[in-house]
Amino acid sequence: MALEDLYQQLIMDHGRRPRNFRAVEQATHRLEGYNPLCGDRVTVYLKLDNGRVTDAAFQGTGCAISTASASLMTEAIKGKTTDEVEKLFAAFHAMVTGQPVPPDVALGKLSALAGVAAYPVRVKCATLPWHTMKGALSGARQPVSTE
Ligand code: ZN
Repeated sequence: MALEDLYQQLIMDHGRRPRNFRAVEQATHRLEGYNPLCGDRVTVYLKLDNGRVTDAAFQGTGCAISTASASLMTEAIKGKTTDEVEKLFAAFHAMVTGQPVPPDVALGKLSALAGVAAYPVRVKCATLPWHTMKGALSGARQPVSTE
């Protein structure tokens, strides 16, 4: 099976059966995000302990790309320090906007979303959960909008 097909399957799987799709009762950080262009809405929940993400989850409604991206993101950031999460954000953002990805960051399953770089409208779907997560980490209270 071609890598592209594997990536497609991974996105469809996470889009249909998102992981960590729940609220976090003891969340230390929480923020809503909205992508008016597509209608995607997401609430990201984070639990931080000593500078490390010990739980990450999300709720919301959106297209398959935004749901899959949020699902893959929560899996990717859990267990990471906030510094590692910042690096991952930068690398993910570079990947989906067609920029060079820093060689010292392993994107793993997140690479499945590399294909959205070819679809500018989809980039906002893929980055919405990430911008929302970053806003939550920085202590923002106003909902994040991609517009
Ligand atoms: Zn979308």
